[in-house]
Amino acid sequence: MVKAKKALGQHFLKEEDIARKIVEALKTDNYGTAQPVLEIGPGTGVLTKYLLKRGDIDLSLVEIDRESVDYLNVHYPELGKKLILGDFLRLDLSTVFKEPFLIIGNFPYNISSQIFFKVLETREMTPQIVCMLQREVAKRLASPPGNKDYGILSVLLQAWYDIEYLFTVDEGAFIPPPKVKSAVIRVIRNNRESLGCDEKRFKLVIKTAFNQRRKTVRNSVKQLTAGPLPDHRLLGMRPEQLSVEDFVELTNLIDSN
Ligand code: SAH
Repeated sequence: MVKAKKALGQHFLKEEDIARKIVEALKTDNYGTAQPVLEIGPGTGVLTKYLLKRGDIDLSLVEIDRESVDYLNVHYPELGKKLILGDFLRLDLSTVFKEPFLIIGNFPYNISSQIFFKVLETREMTPQIVCMLQREVAKRLASPPGNKDYGILSVLLQAWYDIEYLFTVDEGAFIPPPKVKSAVIRVIRNNRESLGCDEKRFKLVIKTAFNQRRKTVRNSVKQLTAGPLPDHRLLGMRPEQLSVEDFVELTNLIDSN
C-alpha cells in the first residue's frame, strides 16, 4: 500500500461504485478513434482501473508522488511511458499532447483552483474536465450570478466553460477521510470564441471588483480608470450580481472611458 501524504492532498477513494460513476461521467466523441485523456493524480489507481477498461480513451497520467508511481507501475505495467512522474502545475502540456485532450481526476484539493487557472490557459486544448474536488469549490465553480458562492473563478471559468454539479461524496468514502465533503463536477467548453473585450483587463476588472465584494462596482473599479465614470446600471451593483456578459460590458465601459 501507499501511505497517504497530507502535503500532497492524498485521500484515496475507497468506494468502487463512486470511482465507476466518475469515470462514466467522462464523455467522448465516439468517432471511433480513442480520445486522449489525462488523469491528474492517479494515486493508487482507483479511477485508472476503470479508465483502462474504456476502449474510447487513450490514457496518460501525471502523478507527483514517486511512491504512487512505483505502485502503479507494478499493478498496471501497461501504462508504460504514459505514466508521467511530475507536477501537473509545471507540466508543459504541449509536449505531451498534440491534439485536444480531456482531463479527469480526483484532484489534490490544495491545488484544485490552480489546476483550473492552468486549464483556462490551455482552454482550446481542454474541451472537458471531470473531477472531484471540495464541495465548497465545486459549488463556487458551478454557481450562477446572484449567489453568495459566486466569485472570481466562477466568472473566469464560466466565460469559457459550462459547469455541471453531478453529485456529492461524503468524507467516509476516502482513506483517510478529508475534513470536508467532496463533489464531482463536469466542465465542458462552451462555444464562446472571443470575449468581446480585452481579456487581461477583463480579469483585472473581475479581481478588483471581487476584492471588495460588499462595495458597489463603481467604488472598487474607479481605481482602474483616470477619468470619471459615467452613470451606468452595472456600476451600482455588487460584483456577485454580474454575469460574464455584464463583466464584458463593464470592462468595455471602463476602457472606453
Ligand atoms: N486518484 C486517487 C488519488 C486522489 S488524491 C484516488 O482517487 O484515490 C490526489 C492525488 O494527486 C495524490 O495521488 C497526489 O499524490 C496527487 N498529486 C498531488 N499534487 C499533484 C500535482 N501537483 N501533480 C500531480 N499529482 C499530484
